[in-house]
Amino acid sequence: MEPKPHMLNLSQADLQALLQEWGEPAYRARQIYRHLYVNLATDPAAMTDLPKALRERLTTDVDWAGLRLQRTLSCDDGLTRKALFSVSTGAPAESVLMVYPDRATVCVSSQSGCLMRCTFCATGRLGLLGQLTTGQIVEQVLWAERELRSMRERPPSHDQVHLLTNVVFMGMGEPFNNYDAWWAAVERLHDPQGFNMGARNFTVSTVGLVPGIRRLAAATLPVNLAISLHAPNDALRSSLMPVNKAFPIADLLAATRDYIAKTRRRVSFEYVLLEGKNDLPAHAEELATLLRSQYPPDQTMLFHVNLIPWNPVPGAPLERSHRARVLAFQDILEARRVPCTVRVERGSEIAAACGQLAGMAQDEAATTPAE
Ligand code: SAH
Repeated sequence: MEPKPHMLNLSQADLQALLQEWGEPAYRARQIYRHLYVNLATDPAAMTDLPKALRERLTTDVDWAGLRLQRTLSCDDGLTRKALFSVSTGAPAESVLMVYPDRATVCVSSQSGCLMRCTFCATGRLGLLGQLTTGQIVEQVLWAERELRSMRERPPSHDQVHLLTNVVFMGMGEPFNNYDAWWAAVERLHDPQGFNMGARNFTVSTVGLVPGIRRLAAATLPVNLAISLHAPNDALRSSLMPVNKAFPIADLLAATRDYIAKTRRRVSFEYVLLEGKNDLPAHAEELATLLRSQYPPDQTMLFHVNLIPWNPVPGAPLERSHRARVLAFQDILEARRVPCTVRVERGSEIAAACGQLAGMAQDEAATTPAE
């Protein structure tokens, strides 16, 4: 017998095919799809406009088991929330919801753990624990939207809360190392007949997997691309990011240039600032020279540098750059006409900041003495 399909792993077309197999009229699939992605139902029992027999069949023949929510943590007066989930194998996945006055962003995981082993990243220390399915990626976003809806129902504190405006694939994992499942999640969440999130409201961040960048350049939806650069030369980048040995800076920038030529979309480079390692004025100069060399001097750059103050990871022999260094770095880039911003931090006190997602429950379980 075939294993039951998971409801959130079915695209709208898959759901239609399944219901057709069951001999149901086509509009039933549309109804169910709306329940899932517009009403955010988690269970057929809530779909009261379906015949009882169909609800029963949905319950028995489809897998509805969700990610297990292990814990939620919040800070910033409830405006930053982290969810720690586990998948059926027990592997962790974490998501962070950030509510701002004019928008709400969720940062989701594309894998449990990560294979890339960047030295400064907490997730990198776990190694790859498992791929997430499309449904598991989608479900993190649905969690965030449900949180926002329930915040709105609890006035007066948060009655002005926005519903979800942005999804960033910057949680655990490397999206391009789980490309198909990740892309299907983007398509699902974008579907105007369902969750209806605009393509430009998605941002994917990659460690710099060149084949993924090339694939995205040919993709049908214009999602935003961010690339983790973190160093202006190969020696330094390889010491921080082992992936640089496979895809060195020249190859990465060539793929980025092609991506921009094809899409005409701006790419942002992420640059985590590590005290004394990659944050000196000479590094800023070298970075400016590197990026400017990609363009004729008179042309506007379709690059943007996003400076990220490093969020400390326990046990990593690194330090966070001092504020003055961060600002000096920014000044140098700006003087060389390289557009740049410093990322505003959220969630550091609940280990929800960039690169801090490391499966806390798993760590805790591992340190609990056996009975
Ligand atoms: N695998 C993707 C997404 C990972 S996380 C990638 O590498 O881009 C998103 C961003 O957070 C990346 O730029 C990553 O390098 C950065 N990051 C990782 N650890 C961090 C830390 N401790 N502090 C600040 N940023 C970090």
